[in-house]
Amino acid sequence: MRQVFPLHAETQASAGYSIDPLLESNFTRCNGLLHKYPGRVLLVTTGACAIHCRYCFRRHFPYAEVPHSIKQWIPAIDAIAEDSSIEEVLLSGGDPLMLVDDILQSLIEQIASIPHLQRLRIHTRLPVVVPSRVTDRLIAMLKQTRLTCFVVLHINHVNEIDDSVAAASANLIDHGIPVLNQAVLLRDVNDSFDALSSLFRRLINLRIIPYYLHQLDHVAGAAHFAVDEARGRELIGQLQDALPGYAVPRYVVEQPNQKCKTVLR
Ligand SMILES: *Cc1c(COP(=O)(O)O)cnc(C)c1O
Ligand code: SF4
Repeated sequence: MRQVFPLHAETQASAGYSIDPLLESNFTRCNGLLHKYPGRVLLVTTGACAIHCRYCFRRHFPYAEVPHSIKQWIPAIDAIAEDSSIEEVLLSGGDPLMLVDDILQSLIEQIASIPHLQRLRIHTRLPVVVPSRVTDRLIAMLKQTRLTCFVVLHINHVNEIDDSVAAASANLIDHGIPVLNQAVLLRDVNDSFDALSSLFRRLINLRIIPYYLHQLDHVAGAAHFAVDEARGRELIGQLQDALPGYAVPRYVVEQPNQKCKTVLR
C-alpha cells in the first residue's frame, strides 16, 4: 500500500531530489528513445501505467511528448535502424503492456524488421497487477518474433505475488520466455532481511530470476522511501549468506554518466 498511496511527506522538498534525477533528457535521441548504455536503447512506449508508484523515477517525465501512434514512432525506429551498434531494444514507459495488442504487435514487427537487432526486452508491471494481461496473443507475439524476448517484472514485496501472478509468469516461462525481476529498496516496504528473503525465495521458486535491487533514484517527492546504501549493503550481505547465489540480485544504483548501472558491494 505504501508503494501507491500518496502521503503528505511527498510535498516536502528535499535537498538532492530533483525532477530528472538520472538526467535522462541528456540521453534522449529523439522523442521516446533513450540511448544511454552501449548496445541497447530504451523506448518509452507510453506514459500510462497500471500502478503509478509514488517513488517512480519517471514520475515527472514529459510523457506528453512521447509518441502516441504508430506513425509517431517512425523517427525512433529510423534512429535505431541507422545505428548498427544497437542489438537490443527495451520497451519501457510507463508500461508497454498498457498498449493494446494490435499496436504492440505492429511496434514489435517494426522493431524486428531492423536486421541488426537481436533481442527485445519488455519491462512491465502489468502481469503483477492485471495478470490476465498475459494473453495467449501476447505470448504468441513474443514467441513468433525472430527476436529473443525477455520479460522483466517489477515486484518489490512477496505480498504482490498471488496465485494468478504466479500463473501468468509460469505461462510466459513455460512458453520459453525468460522472466527476470527488478525491485527497488524502499523504506518501510522491503528494507528488512525477512521481506527481501521472502521475496527472492518466492521468485526463484517460480523460476523468476532476481535481476536487480535498485537503490532509490533521487526523484522529487520520494525522499521518504530512501534507505541508506550502508543498510542496503548490509542486507545484501545477509542475503548472500542465507540464499542460493542466483537468488541474490545485483544491488545497483543508476548514475547519470556511467556506461552501466553501478553495482554497490
Ligand atoms: C537500466 C537501463 C537499461 C538497461 O540496463 P541493463 O543493465 O542492460 O538492464 C537501458 N537503458 C536505460 C536508459 C536504463 O536506465
Ligand atoms: S510500474 Fe514502473 S514505470 Fe510504472 S509507476 Fe511504477 S516505477 Fe514507474
